[in-house]
Amino acid sequence: MTSESRRDEIGERVVRAKSKLEWDTPMYQLAVSQLDQTAEIMNLDANIWERLRTPQRAHVVSFPFRRDDYDTVETVFGYRVQHLLTMGPTKGGIRYDEDVNLGEVTALAMWMSWKCAIMGLPFGGAKGGVRIDPNSLSLTELQRITRRFTSEIIEVIGPDRDIPAPDLGTDGQVMSWIMDTYSQQKGYAVPGVVTGKPIEIGGSEGRLEATGRGAIACAVEAGRRLGLSLGESAVVVQGYGEVGGTVARLARALGAKVVGISDVKGGLYNASGLNLAGVDAWLRENRFLSGFPDGDGVTNSELLELPCDILIPAAIQNQITKRNASALQCHLLVEAANGPTDLDADAILDSRGITVVPDILANAGGVTVSYFEWVQGLQQFFWTEKEVNDRLIELIQRAYHEVESIADRRGVSLRTAALIRGIERIADAKRRRGLFP
Ligand code: NAD
Repeated sequence: MTSESRRDEIGERVVRAKSKLEWDTPMYQLAVSQLDQTAEIMNLDANIWERLRTPQRAHVVSFPFRRDDYDTVETVFGYRVQHLLTMGPTKGGIRYDEDVNLGEVTALAMWMSWKCAIMGLPFGGAKGGVRIDPNSLSLTELQRITRRFTSEIIEVIGPDRDIPAPDLGTDGQVMSWIMDTYSQQKGYAVPGVVTGKPIEIGGSEGRLEATGRGAIACAVEAGRRLGLSLGESAVVVQGYGEVGGTVARLARALGAKVVGISDVKGGLYNASGLNLAGVDAWLRENRFLSGFPDGDGVTNSELLELPCDILIPAAIQNQITKRNASALQCHLLVEAANGPTDLDADAILDSRGITVVPDILANAGGVTVSYFEWVQGLQQFFWTEKEVNDRLIELIQRAYHEVESIADRRGVSLRTAALIRGIERIADAKRRRGLFP
């Protein structure tokens, strides 16, 4: 049987009806195509392959949300998807974005499953989201929408069940409100219901920077393979938020020249290196980068094509496609964001000899320290920042080298190797647990 017909057969086993799957969107198709390609290479058991293509649980809610002017009440959609319940509780961020949909959240939940398995963490993947533009919200609106969304999904989350964390458009303050709302309903404090919390309510040292720190550790390791020293590199970072801001600052601290950064409204370029302390001071006064005097304004698409050694997308998905993959000028692409590169672009980058450290490895530092936070909370015993950072680096370097050796042994990309590592661990666990009833 050809590989295409085997893939079609698996697809047909899932979709027997003519109607589309509820979560079938371009982003879901990207996640499934990655799974399918890898399953073929691994010769994965067809039953497990089919099972992994769909989420185990998907919750869609709609709820009323009152704006500050009181008379305006909008109906808002929210999602929480749990892809895999085999490995332990499910784990994954909650994002606030005006384009969030069930397919996007499902793809992100699937990637969380692979990510946790690559890192050897006892979680399955989940993801959640609220379809709202976070830039349109006042602080009081942000709190109100968070508390209502939490109460809508309260039955499906919990420290032993499903543990949210920050993602695009959410942060430690949002996690605090989720924790408080959940705890009010239970009648006692339940810090373990979320990670990425502030330290004062049971958060972990090092969590805020963990995703960026992990991405930089991957850039260092992949750079070594290419003979590219991070400290002597020119770096471009798309998205100067929680992850991208940390990536840029850590790269700078290691001696790199950060020549480009951006936010949702556009970017800045300075071939001699941007003054990041100046940028941070500017952002404290002005919400967006636009207008910062010490750099040339560029659009987000121009930013991706700037000359640099290392490009680190740290904003949103679907940024590098067949439209611009031939125009990228970097040698190394480190995916701090989830899903920034599509399949066509992957093939183009591969043919151009550009190394890609995939999202499911490059941004796994966040969930790794979330795991540390969960463990510290369960034990009521807290680690120092150095202990957290050292353990993170140890785990991410180990995962990187496991993936790299699969890539070398099988002659595949780092993305395919990472997928093989993650899916293999999950398939082994599924076989061990067997089938109920
Ligand atoms: P954030 O909201 O703190 O920052 C996002 C940044 O991207 C901001 O600068 C924002 O202005 C910019 N941005 C938003 N929309 C954009 C657009 N359409 N075009 C260009 N820029 C845009 O979010 P974050 O937590 O830093 O997450 C960034 C990415 O990293 C996401 O893909 C997220 O899924 C991924 N990620 C985050 C974590 C985490 O721990 N926060 C962990 C793993 C992966």
